[in-house]
Amino acid sequence: MKPFNYYDLIESFAVDACPICALTRNDVARHLDSHLYEYANTRETHATMRASRGLCAHHSQQLADYPAGVLGVAILHQAVLDELLTLTDTPVRSNGGFSRWMGAANTALADRLEPTATCFVCDALERAEALHIRALADHILEPRLTEAYRASRGLCLPHFRQTLRAAPSTAAHERLTALQSDIWRALKAELDAFTLKYDVNHADLVMGDEADSWRRATEALGGDPFVLGLRRKV
Ligand SMILES: [Zn+2]
Ligand SMILES: [Zn+2]
Repeated sequence: MKPFNYYDLIESFAVDACPICALTRNDVARHLDSHLYEYANTRETHATMRASRGLCAHHSQQLADYPAGVLGVAILHQAVLDELLTLTDTPVRSNGGFSRWMGAANTALADRLEPTATCFVCDALERAEALHIRALADHILEPRLTEAYRASRGLCLPHFRQTLRAAPSTAAHERLTALQSDIWRALKAELDAFTLKYDVNHADLVMGDEADSWRRATEALGGDPFVLGLRRKV
């Protein structure tokens, strides 16, 4: 049986990016959107936001990029600030000399302000990413998916590593390796052509599609910064 995201996966190979990055990024945007509109007033979302002391820097910024969601953003942050003020207004007990107490008080308040839960958008991102990787690894031997992969820019390096590790059989592992290495070989050939033609000694050679190969190479290795640029969960 095909997983629910199978056809999304096939379609996403047509975009000019790593399909796992593209799908995960869309899922995160949907998740943020629904929390702004549907869940901004639910007790559960407030409890999560209080516990995580807001979102991580990256998702806080993404949240602020929804111009129509400003009321939701304000409501969610009211809850977080209420939590922070409750924590700062509660006195820290002294049990020793003044200087020892000062040191303990500094640490105690800082410790209290530490989040007790991770950023819920980072969590949603990891769940979505894992689902797409699972679907790809499990179904790569199906001809439609193989062809979609072959015609694409392939996976970014971090997602290729994760998909290889998730491969359920030697045949799936070999298929993934063959597909991705063909894509890397073609990209390397483009970089070779680019560097040759960029050289002043070859000014007579006309630059073709390889003109932006250097940019595609950086994306192919690093992946989407909205997906892979954040692994810090505090
Ligand atoms: Zn990726
Ligand atoms: Zn986050």
